[in-house]
Order: sequence, then C-alpha cells, then structure tokens
Amino acid sequence: MLSEVTPFHFQGFDFYIKRDELIDPYLSGNKYRKLYALLQTPAETYNTIISYGGTQSNAMLSMAALCKQKGWQFEYYCKPLASQLKQQPSGNLKAALDLGMQLLESPDYDTLIPTLQSHDKTLLIPQGGADPLAELGIQILAGEIKQWQQAQNISKLNIVTPSGTGTTAYYLAKHLPNFQILTTACVGDHAYLHQQMQQLGSIPHNLKWLEPSRKYHFAKPYPEFLDTYQALKQNGIEFDLIYAPLMWQTLLASMQNIQGTVLYVHSGGLMGNATMLERYAQKGFL
Ligand SMILES: *Cc1c(COP(=O)(O)O)cnc(C)c1O
Repeated sequence: MLSEVTPFHFQGFDFYIKRDELIDPYLSGNKYRKLYALLQTPAETYNTIISYGGTQSNAMLSMAALCKQKGWQFEYYCKPLASQLKQQPSGNLKAALDLGMQLLESPDYDTLIPTLQSHDKTLLIPQGGADPLAELGIQILAGEIKQWQQAQNISKLNIVTPSGTGTTAYYLAKHLPNFQILTTACVGDHAYLHQQMQQLGSIPHNLKWLEPSRKYHFAKPYPEFLDTYQALKQNGIEFDLIYAPLMWQTLLASMQNIQGTVLYVHSGGLMGNATMLERYAQKGFL
C-alpha cells in the first residue's frame, strides 16, 4: 500500500480518506499516481520531458520533481508571465524553477502547443498529465482501494475525487467497475470534461457527476472555499484550496442521495496552498 486510509467524521457524516497526499510533498496525490509509470521508467529511456499549462499547476511541480529525480531536462511552455511573477516567482512556480525547470514563455502559445510532439528521447506529456500514461498508477490505486474494501468487508462503496482533466476519475472508474465513482468538474463544466475524457476511451457507466450548486471560476478565491478548507483542516486533514473545497461542498449537498460507504481519495496539491492563502489574504478574506 502506498497510502493508508483513515476514518473522517465531518459535518455529521462518516467518511474514509485515502491519504495520497502523504506519499510525497511534491509528487503528491493523483500526480504521483499519474506519473507512476514514468517513475518506474529507466532514466536512460528519455533525456527531456516537455509539457505546458498554467504556472501554478500542481502537475507542473510534480513533473519538475520527477525530472529532477531522473536527471531529465524539463521544458515547460506557458503564456507570457505577469511582470511581478516574472521578477519574483512564488509558490509552485518557484519550487519548480528551483528543481531545474526551464520555463518557456510563448506569445503565440495557442498556435504553438498543438505543434509540440514527442521525438527521439523527448517525451511530451499533455497539460495536467491527461494521458494514457497515467493509467498504470491509477490502476494500482484502484487495486489498493479494492484490497481495503475487501479487508473491511464493505459491500456498497462510493469513491469520491475531484476532477480537473478527469483522468484520475476516468481510470478509477475503469478499474473499479463494481463501485460508483463520484466526481465534480472543477475546471469547466461536466459536458466539456465528458468530451475531454472521451479521448481516453468510452466513459465508464459507473462514473457519476455531482453538479455544484453554482458556477465557480477555476483557481479563484471564494470565501466559502476558505470556510470549507478551514473546517476540514480543523477536523484533522488539510486539503488543497483549489479542487477539494468544491468537491466537498458538492459532496455534502448530495449526501442524502448517496447510499453506502464513502471513500474520498485525497488528490494532494498541498504545496499550492501557501500562494492561495496569500491571495485570500490580499482580498481581505483572511
Ligand atoms: C491535478 C489535481 C486534480 C485533478 O486531477 P485530474 O486527474 O486532472 O482530474 C485534483 N486535485 C488536485 C489537488 C490536483 O492537483
């Protein structure tokens, strides 16, 4: 087992938490699982990893940690940075740069990205690690969940995890066909995510969407997200400030319709909390 499961009583309900955030501070949560296959790959297989996306991305930081460990170059494409961030990188960006990431700002990002390709000893990982490469690690996570469920003799199990690209939820559903996987789209709406996921294959029947009560913009500070984050933390477990608050709020609102045991798979991302808390403070929410 790569991570333990702990009971968690929250707002009148009993949950279990799969503690994937404890695996590694940088290669944390589902990013560890998604990069697992590459962690097992002999270092001489590649010399460079290329990827792209946001400059506070958890996936970016995890890929930087992976490349450092393997001795691979890491080239990361992004849109031009705001001058303040450029002069004074913070949070995940700073940590990734310290790990040796080469940041490539591109003024024509949108036309450049579709031209990127794997070649020779260079591997392209799509934004957020949304790639069939992620399947092996998530299959192992699914195996650990199944082992736990059998040892606990749980008959009806619901597995909850928040979605960005939906890669984690998709492969969990594929490899745990007898259980319900519940997720919420934290980036874009579920129709968009559904379409994204279809690139991985047909959508498993046991993957269910929980609809948030309202629309939220990704990675923006909201006072109610901070409340949820703080309540969870006071209850003993820290979660990330971007995905987890929306997942928990939506889950709690749906609990009367969920039968059986609920296992929440912690998706990691705690390294990004410092910069998010700064943003909350700047807005006067803290
Ligand atoms: C990346 C990430 C997710 C989303 O995972 P997907 O597999 O892209 O759906 C959820 N939570 C945290 C903390 C993340 O860093």
